[in-house]
Amino acid sequence: MPARSTDAAGRDRSGKSTPAALDAATLDPASIDALVHWYARTGRDLPWRRTRDPYRILVSEIMLQQTRVEAVVGRFERFLVRFPSLRALAGAKPQEVLAEWSGLGYYRRARNLHRLAQQVLQQHSGRLPADPDALRALPGLGEYTAAAVSSIAFDLPCLAIDGNVARVLCRLLALDVDPRRVATKRHLHRAAAPALQRHSPGQLNQALMELGARVCLPRSPRCESCPCASACLARQQGIQEHIPPPRRQAIRDVQEAAMVLEREGRYLLFRGQRPGVLESMWEFPTLDSRLMTASRAADPQRPTPSGAARTSGTRELAEALQRHLSALHIETEHLELLGAIRHGITNRRILCHVFRPRIARFPSQLRIGSRTRDAGWYTPAEIRNLPLAASARKITDLLADPPASAGAGEAGKATGRPDLRPPPPEATL
Ligand code: SF4
Repeated sequence: MPARSTDAAGRDRSGKSTPAALDAATLDPASIDALVHWYARTGRDLPWRRTRDPYRILVSEIMLQQTRVEAVVGRFERFLVRFPSLRALAGAKPQEVLAEWSGLGYYRRARNLHRLAQQVLQQHSGRLPADPDALRALPGLGEYTAAAVSSIAFDLPCLAIDGNVARVLCRLLALDVDPRRVATKRHLHRAAAPALQRHSPGQLNQALMELGARVCLPRSPRCESCPCASACLARQQGIQEHIPPPRRQAIRDVQEAAMVLEREGRYLLFRGQRPGVLESMWEFPTLDSRLMTASRAADPQRPTPSGAARTSGTRELAEALQRHLSALHIETEHLELLGAIRHGITNRRILCHVFRPRIARFPSQLRIGSRTRDAGWYTPAEIRNLPLAASARKITDLLADPPASAGAGEAGKATGRPDLRPPPPEATL
């Protein structure tokens, strides 16, 4: 196989670090010395840095998961006053632990910490194990937290790689690779091994964390204040802001079905029918894959619709729509496929089939999903003044100008008429 051509920094033609460059990466000893001295001089005085007690360090590491340092500072000592030892924590009731955790969020951490304390009491005579593998076997402890506790509390030579540490090391070594990949972590462990032998592992890990939190920031790293600046390969090559490379999210193609429910020249729209980015936007009633699954489970026996909806791969969507309408107690005579629109939400490319059910009978009171915040019947002119999801805007355009082939001609004509009628008196939902 021909050798891959690389530049002086060991990157291939696409600009990526090659496996050979990853293998050759080593941390400059002098800059690591400077980093550790910088941390000893300027590191923040945080409550958990004043102790080597494994239980206290464990509590701090669990609290710091997904939570800002400032939020943890105010709660760390309070938790330890309430549960001063692992034995005290193990003996508490779950609701007492949750109450003390209140406000910190991610309550699974509190439940796991409680279970961990009970497990350590039963299996390790109440003493936290030092070995990272033994720590990882305990509830709620992943690779990073186990390495952090092993190194900080027991000074074992483990590199604790969180997002901050990975970013710092990749920049020092000018590795423009995904830091979450197992192969990258393996290279970082290997590159840092000599430094873990030369310095206290706990101090080195905390120095790297501190640099990532205060100086080597994700955007606009403050290289002019960095103790490692003279040996930082990313800075030398001017690529520090491109490391780590941005995450590329895979684009997913999905299909959904929207329905145009018309009554007296007004159309039914929902607000907040789906969680996430569309939570505050108005949409036509829409079935995405989640609702389709629920609909299928609710009424698996519903017969197949007739007419245009049978064709071109939309049959399953039409069936799901029929089931959904049935669950809403809306009786339909016919389900017309009006057309399709395309739109995108974050990493989803969506093909939305738009159906217009011909309604035989509406229930006196329309039932809407428990999550839906609002519902209303609106004229096309009113719809255009609502905060609309992109799909709703496109469907409104479709209603105003339906494709020539759309379903029955009668329904196509109805959508184009001007809305001059007053709102129906029974417009309550
Ligand atoms: S020199 Fe800049 S990019 Fe390099 S480690 Fe320091 S802050 Fe980060």
